[in-house]
Amino acid sequence: MMTENIFQKIIDRQIQADIVYEDEQCLAFRDINPQAPVHVLIIPKKVIRTHDEIQESDVELLGKLHWVAVQLARELGLKDGYRLVINCREQAGQTVPHLHMHLLGGREMHWPPG
Ligand code: AMP
Repeated sequence: MMTENIFQKIIDRQIQADIVYEDEQCLAFRDINPQAPVHVLIIPKKVIRTHDEIQESDVELLGKLHWVAVQLARELGLKDGYRLVINCREQAGQTVPHLHMHLLGGREMHWPPG
C-alpha cells in the first residue's frame, strides 16, 4: 500500500537520508533497506506520484534521472553492470507515492524479478 510521501520530507530535509547526489531537479540517496551492495534511489524534486502520471513536459527531467544514474553507477564502481527499476503502483510493489528510480548493483542479478 502506498503511504505518505516520505521522499518529500527528505527533499525538505525534515528527515535524514544518506544523500549521494543533488542538483536543482534531482536528488539521490541510499535506500534505507538495501537489496544489493549498492542500492540508491534517484528522484525528481518535482512531485510525480507514479510513473504513469508522467507528461510529455517531463521528458527532459526523465532523461536527467537516467544521466544521474549513469554518473552514480560510474562513481560507485558498478563497472560490471547494474539494474534500474521503477515500480509503478500497487501491483508492481510501489510503496512511496513519489516517482523514484532504484539503482541496484554490486551483485549478480536474476531474471525474472519477483
Ligand atoms: P518502492 O517499493 O519502489 O516504492 O520503493 C520504495 C523504497 O523506498 C524502498 O526500497 C524502501 O526501502 C525505501 N525507503 C522508504 N523510506 C525510506 C527512507 N526514509 N530513506 C531511504 N529509503 C527509504
